[in-house]
Amino acid sequence: MQGFWLRLSIPIVLVTLFALLLWGVFSAMPAVLFMLLVLLIVMVLHARQLYRLGRWLQDARIETIPEAGGIWDEVFSQLYKMVKRHNQTKLELATELQHIEQATAALPEGVAILNEANRIEWCNPLAQQHFDLDLEHDFMQDITYLVRQPEFVEYLHESLSRESLLGESSFSEPLVMRPSRHDDMVLSIKLIPYGVNKRLLISRDITQLERIEAMRRDFVANVSHELRTPLTVVNGFVENLQDMPDLSRDDARRALQLMAEQTRRMENLVADLLTLSHLENDHSPLLEETVDMGALLDEIYREGQLLSGGSHTLRLEVASDAKLLGNREELRSAFGNLLSNAIRYTPEGGSILLRWAERSSQPVFSVQDSGIGIAAQHIPRLTERFYRVDRSRSRETGGTGLGLAIVKHIAMRHQAKLEVLSDEGKGSTFALVFPIKRASH
Ligand code: ADP
Repeated sequence: MQGFWLRLSIPIVLVTLFALLLWGVFSAMPAVLFMLLVLLIVMVLHARQLYRLGRWLQDARIETIPEAGGIWDEVFSQLYKMVKRHNQTKLELATELQHIEQATAALPEGVAILNEANRIEWCNPLAQQHFDLDLEHDFMQDITYLVRQPEFVEYLHESLSRESLLGESSFSEPLVMRPSRHDDMVLSIKLIPYGVNKRLLISRDITQLERIEAMRRDFVANVSHELRTPLTVVNGFVENLQDMPDLSRDDARRALQLMAEQTRRMENLVADLLTLSHLENDHSPLLEETVDMGALLDEIYREGQLLSGGSHTLRLEVASDAKLLGNREELRSAFGNLLSNAIRYTPEGGSILLRWAERSSQPVFSVQDSGIGIAAQHIPRLTERFYRVDRSRSRETGGTGLGLAIVKHIAMRHQAKLEVLSDEGKGSTFALVFPIKRASH
């Protein structure tokens, strides 16, 4: 507003001088009348500008700012600058807010801001997903009305009373819960106090972690169970032998034979466990070589004949001369496992076909048997560790329940697919389909 007073005083001085001149030349009356007329005009002009200003303020947009002359020009130009600055700041803040929104949307955790009455002031998309919220409808709603699970409500109330007792810095333990509308999801929830009576509700989807943890627990339970049975048997025989030192030679031999069977079972289990743990270890790289499949299949075929002991008709068909790029020992273990299963799950007199062929240039190893077959509902779960269709048959034939889990891992390490076709009561075909790039002629 530089020169404001100067610009205002020049016309006043001029009008006053002119009025004084009128007074000097004529009399006081014309001078007063002149002054009154000028004042009236000035008032009307100012009133008009005030009216325009008032109207503009009702919808203050930069494009519609009124134009004016004189000192009002100065006022409107200041207003123009102010609105421009304001618009600029608004734009900057909006951009900033957008950045923050983008950043919180990208967070791998749900974040919601709650006030002291548990009302939702804001939340990111993941929190909306976790708690089935819609910020537009649920803004400033009490979250305990929307997420009604008792453990959640209790957790919020408990944290609130703890905060008031111990102060802001008291971080609560996370709550693990399944949201009622997504009961296949497990959430870990944490409440963090901040600012004045504000709280951040952080939610993390730990479904996968929980699943792995459950698998780990099941695995430990299964291994313990598998080892306990043979250990109990061996223990029983040892106690018997101790209690009856004058046991006949025949009885003692039978007891030792049964003990040897059980120790072999434990040995097989431990060996399979070690193989699995080696295969699952990301740090054990696949040492590859070009495997002569003819020789490898011959070895496996001969082992199969020994295992079958002449109870089955075993055939080997080598329909492809493709060599396979892979780890010989692992391939031998996978093929051997499939063949041993075919023998163990095929009754005496059945037939088994070992085949090496190509399907659309993809090398395929398959074992077809005329055995007991598998009902369709079991097929998707066969490669789970310790999954067995018939527990006692598996045990009787020396199975550990880990064979197909091992095959699946070996297949994965070779980018191969394990295919299972089976007809209950008629037989099964297990095939390993390798990628074309692993074949060489
Ligand atoms: P196991 O040591 O019990 O044989 P596997 O992991 O090798 O464990 O196989 C899992 C289950 O799949 C077996 O218990 C059996 O029920 C079924 N299975 C595997 N191969 C065959 C087959 N060729 N015929 C019928 N059932 C089979």
